[in-house]
Amino acid sequence: MQIVNTVEEVRRQVKAWRKEGLSVGLVPTMGYLHEGHKSLIDAAVRDNDRVVVSVFVNPTQFAPNEDLESYPRDLERDAALCEAAGASLIFHPEPSEMYHEGYSTFVDMRTLTQVLCGKTRPIHFSGVCTVVSKLFHIVTPDRAYFGQKDAQQLAVIRHMVEDLNFDIEIVGCPIIREEDGLAKSSRNTYLKEEERKQAVILSQALKEGQELIRQGERNAETVKKAIREKIETMPLANIDYVEIVNFKTFENITELQGEFLTAVAVYIGKTRLIDNFIMTL
Ligand code: AMP
Repeated sequence: MQIVNTVEEVRRQVKAWRKEGLSVGLVPTMGYLHEGHKSLIDAAVRDNDRVVVSVFVNPTQFAPNEDLESYPRDLERDAALCEAAGASLIFHPEPSEMYHEGYSTFVDMRTLTQVLCGKTRPIHFSGVCTVVSKLFHIVTPDRAYFGQKDAQQLAVIRHMVEDLNFDIEIVGCPIIREEDGLAKSSRNTYLKEEERKQAVILSQALKEGQELIRQGERNAETVKKAIREKIETMPLANIDYVEIVNFKTFENITELQGEFLTAVAVYIGKTRLIDNFIMTL
């Protein structure tokens, strides 16, 4: 497995693979890889002849008050995980390789990005769409893999690919969880012992909401209220949002029907965690 830092090196390698008629999968990540990322790499290795994993903590998707500097990084460990999973190449650029001096082009989506995480993090999805577009142009993959853990991101990327005519299949992968239900995340490493214990409330509250719906509840407000109240039982939990939206339009729904996304963002101490489930009725 190769580790390369420049756009040129990626292009050269992908061109060589293309000459041999090989298919290419891309797994975009910010590194500090865990089982969630590994499930994406596994899927990509199954579907493609060669797999590129990008490891890049993208500065344009962080606001100045967010955790760009403290975001965990460990390329050596990431490389071992990628190699064991069967990836062919890690693209690990410096920020200056992706954003040269005077860089000024951004991809802004006008729908989907103003709600949920976009409300709290107004520049986030512009940074995500921009970096993912750049990675798509650099790697030119046949398929790219994204986790349902970031359900809004997955929907935004699918929409962008349709809008901008990227000839790339977007593959969504299920959420991988810790044994107690906490969705795996690189940011879980921020949690102190007591915070880690209380963080389980996100998945527990969502499970309770899901159960209410299974029992026949169809009023979105009632389900959101139950989820909110469950989360609020944890003293260290501070709710950012609990929302239920149509999974196509991301508009709020009052009556549960069709395909909808139930998503939460919760601060546990200073760490902002997200989780969700998608259901079709
Ligand atoms: P990140 O490194 O956090 O930007 O995540 C890179 C990719 O891995 C994104 O598509 C995420 O949705 C996905 N991912 C992160 N955590 C998980 C998880 N627990 N289960 C499934 N996919 C995940």
